[in-house]
Amino acid sequence: MRPARALIDLQALRHNYQVAKQLSADKALAVVKADAYGHGAVACAKALVDLADGFAVACLEEALELRMAGIAQPIVLLEGFFSADELALIEANDLWCVVHAEWQLAIIEQAHLTRPLTVWLKMDSGMHRVGFFAHEYRAAWQRLQDSNNVASIVLMSHFARADELDCTSTDEQYQLFQDASAGIDAPISICNSPALVAWPHIRSDWSRPGIILYGSQPVPGSEQQFLPVMSLQSKIIAVRELPLGEAIGYGAQCVTSRATRVGIVAMGYADGYPRHAPTGTPVSVEGCRTQLLGRVSMDMLAVDLTDLPHADVGSAVELWGQSVSIDEVAACAGTISYQLLCNVKRVVREYSPY
Ligand SMILES: *Cc1c(COP(=O)(O)O)cnc(C)c1O
Repeated sequence: MRPARALIDLQALRHNYQVAKQLSADKALAVVKADAYGHGAVACAKALVDLADGFAVACLEEALELRMAGIAQPIVLLEGFFSADELALIEANDLWCVVHAEWQLAIIEQAHLTRPLTVWLKMDSGMHRVGFFAHEYRAAWQRLQDSNNVASIVLMSHFARADELDCTSTDEQYQLFQDASAGIDAPISICNSPALVAWPHIRSDWSRPGIILYGSQPVPGSEQQFLPVMSLQSKIIAVRELPLGEAIGYGAQCVTSRATRVGIVAMGYADGYPRHAPTGTPVSVEGCRTQLLGRVSMDMLAVDLTDLPHADVGSAVELWGQSVSIDEVAACAGTISYQLLCNVKRVVREYSPY
């Protein structure tokens, strides 16, 4: 069998949730949208079932997967519903529903439900993606409050730049959110991972940590210790000795600057390893850090074994995880850990027990 695999450390996931929960003043929703950022939503939710106050997903389909696996905690749909016909399943499965636009509000008002819904009312405090503007927010809340179809309301907003420490916009968004919701007696939800890590004076009743659960650092240099959950691994499947001046891989993007021992790894961009990772991107072989050489192919990539004489065919390779942090690989490839994790595919996922 091809040796490419993603080892998922559920004990580390549990540790990270507990750290996130401590950082939260109150309850913490584990964000498991996009198949738990590529880690497997059902396995991750089950591993957190005795710890998590609730879960957040993007849409009804993701929530139903969790409900069918027996997850009974609150589940928030972060984009709410996309059409009125989803309301029956939202109601039947007791899902909490974000309302971010007037058209959703109107559908809720006109719905025929047997049980009123829990609604998370989203304010656009500066992200300018979805949500009600500050000047519309109170009226939207009043309409929900007046509707027989609504049982309770949570006030929410989302930060655009909480990962930037030298930037005033997070405090400005928080201030706007507080001003617009002043006097409304309802729980609030505002902190994502970077806000929990870097903005300790901003707290809410429900935090919404995502990426920190999976062990990536959303704000460089912060002190909390989140453990990597995914270790993306494979093996060396071929070794060749090349003299000085030989090109490696498609496009001859890398030419050896010395006699080089090259290891070929069964891992490529079809597995989700970023094709934009350049020569020099760190890779770990048998626990020793070395570097990527040349372009990443669909199924293979090359690494430098010149200084690792003990490495050979069959040697264990880690692309990210313990020895190489995913944040380093993301920085080299000009992207973020979120995208790398969500892109992992084709490789076998293996879960370590907890
Ligand atoms: C994805 C998402 C989160 C989690 O964000 P992280 O940066 O991964 O913590 C929180 N809130 C909303 C609305 C989201 O869409």
